[in-house]
Amino acid sequence: MKRDTRIAHAGSHPEQQHGLVNPAVYRGSTVIFPTHEAYQRSRRHRYEMVSYGRAGTPTTMAFEEAMAELNGGHRSIAMSSGLAAVTAPLLAFLSAGDHVLVSDSVYGPSRVFCSKMLSRFGVEVTYYDPTIGAGIVDLLRPETRVIYCESPGSHTFEVQDMPAIAAAAAAHPGPSGPVRVVLDNTWATALGFPAFERGVDVIVEAATKYIVGHSDAMLGVVTVRSEEDFLAVKRAAEAVGNCPGAEETYLGLRGLRTLAVRLKQIQANALAVARWLQDQPRVARVMYPPLPEDPGHALWRRDFTGASGLMGIVLDQSYEPDAIAAFLDGLALFGLGSSWGGYESLVLPFEPPKGRTATEWTEASPTLRFHVGLEDPEDLIADLAAGFERLAAA
Ligand SMILES: *Cc1c(COP(=O)(O)O)cnc(C)c1O
Repeated sequence: MKRDTRIAHAGSHPEQQHGLVNPAVYRGSTVIFPTHEAYQRSRRHRYEMVSYGRAGTPTTMAFEEAMAELNGGHRSIAMSSGLAAVTAPLLAFLSAGDHVLVSDSVYGPSRVFCSKMLSRFGVEVTYYDPTIGAGIVDLLRPETRVIYCESPGSHTFEVQDMPAIAAAAAAHPGPSGPVRVVLDNTWATALGFPAFERGVDVIVEAATKYIVGHSDAMLGVVTVRSEEDFLAVKRAAEAVGNCPGAEETYLGLRGLRTLAVRLKQIQANALAVARWLQDQPRVARVMYPPLPEDPGHALWRRDFTGASGLMGIVLDQSYEPDAIAAFLDGLALFGLGSSWGGYESLVLPFEPPKGRTATEWTEASPTLRFHVGLEDPEDLIADLAAGFERLAAA
């Protein structure tokens, strides 16, 4: 069946819910077993049934079933946040003495976890240029176990050659096992980037963004292709006490049902705003891979099946904080705030030089990141036009 049909029906079992279309928001910790035998069976099959609240409820399982189906994966694991989804596979696949390659353009807190946590436990971290492609082979070592990618990259939107990276990983199994390619696919979702078809082993997503879609819950999800990887990630997630909330998981499942139609409109709005931004004299460059002028456009066209509403601009020069404040503070529709993926438009200033080590940022700073939401693009453009006038005046 086609993707839109699967989004509407995946993980849906009205017959188990008294006929109701959606599952209940199951709240629970203890599960009561009728007999010793039933209890023992639950220990053996703890990931196929409801055995304890932390391991999942029928709400969690419905969300996970839907996400696995949408991604074409073996199973999904709901996590308490996007960041928890990022860290679980790293904890699952890396041990002291191992080496991990991490894209220089990853989401900041993912980088903090690698630099400040993994390194404390004896894992060596090397950051790589996100445009490296097949050249990643030169950075692989016998002890490399994971290549951690995010495409397009947070804030700077470099598109990675995922098939080339996956091919390099597949051709290079180390003495202690395969090199897993883990991808943060939050920007594109399964609708915009079929990650498993491009060679990725493990998909992580901040469901907080487009899956939940309404800025009202924190949620993450990991999707894997094999039972072996499922057990590794699920055990790591359980070991650190991961437990997404009942309400949040329900909101993730509810948001998922309208993902395709929301993204379709957001994409159209984003393209209109991006094209307008390209023509502004104070904009040196729009970082949005669907634009033909974007350096990642050729890869985006080849590998992606859609886009989302998150983009960045490089201004024509580095502006003082006062001028940036003049632009930002008067915006009526673009809220100044972290996160994205909801129905509303957002803006955030970002300084790319901070925190990068494998690449050097040579353009103006700060850049501005926009999330284009479901408002009418004409109103969004008018809001931005007034902002550029304030920037010029300052
Ligand atoms: C927001 C985000 C995360 C983290 O998600 P939270 O739900 O906020 O923890 C991870 N990766 C990317 C690319 C993000 O944008």
